[in-house]
Amino acid sequence: MEDVYSFAGNPLDRASERRENRAWIAGLLDDPQTRILALRGLKPFTRGRTPALDWQPVGPWRDQIETGASLIFLGLGDGRAHFAIDATGASVAPDVDTELIDVRALAPAIGTGEAAILAEARSLLDWHARHRFCAQCGSPTKVASAGWVRRCPDCKASHFPRTDPVVIMLAIHGERGLLGRNRRRAGARFSCLAGFVEPGETLEEAVRREVREEVGVELGGLRYFASQPWPFPMSLMIGCHAEALSTDIKVDRAELEGARWFEREEVALMLLRRHPDGLGTPPPVAIAHHIIRAWVEGEADTLG
Ligand SMILES: [Zn+2]
Repeated sequence: MEDVYSFAGNPLDRASERRENRAWIAGLLDDPQTRILALRGLKPFTRGRTPALDWQPVGPWRDQIETGASLIFLGLGDGRAHFAIDATGASVAPDVDTELIDVRALAPAIGTGEAAILAEARSLLDWHARHRFCAQCGSPTKVASAGWVRRCPDCKASHFPRTDPVVIMLAIHGERGLLGRNRRRAGARFSCLAGFVEPGETLEEAVRREVREEVGVELGGLRYFASQPWPFPMSLMIGCHAEALSTDIKVDRAELEGARWFEREEVALMLLRRHPDGLGTPPPVAIAHHIIRAWVEGEADTLG
């Protein structure tokens, strides 16, 4: 079930127990079968009209690797190693037919496995770009463990890539579901409410707090639906359905442009892009689409 969502279903074996082995990694970089994916400004190089990720041999990137561009071992798959490199600022051979495409736009066009690898690469390269200094003592840090750790040469601290948990939920009351319209993305699109999990909080507590804060609705039973890596820049979306115990809505205008209850039949039209007022839901690349669709199709009817 998980692999139907964009950015989920990563096919690579991350071989995490071997990433510390520098000789093994160096050997992989010398292997002509090894493939490397370059990103510039967190957008991947792509090829062709379809388009596809532009996986390349290591050779053209050797200079960049030796001069310290962020390089990440992504994993093993199809009998070979896969790496990602940050080519921001790097020159590219003139015969390389490359185009940079935004990851959110590209994901639906490539296979789910490729999209998942791309999510891994994008989240890690973004983390490296923004964590060049030690959070403990301020010294410049060095990349270690084939891109999975940054170490501080001064205070010896190790820093690991983060994943930020975000709860995203659909509150349900009888035949109605609660959808909101984002301030940052106003317009005709309504979606699930969502928010970051805070320190010292369970997922259930975060779901209840977010819904209470954003619309003033109290929740009863919750059910986990599915999760999705969301590489903008490094979130894990945790999808839930929730039973609403109250129905009065008091919108927090700092968070939402608006929110209201929708009849299930109305949401079905929104999913199909046939709503009479042009209202819609997020596209299938987002887990919100699938949380909403599951409810419309009756998969969340035994809550509580
Ligand atoms: Zn330090």
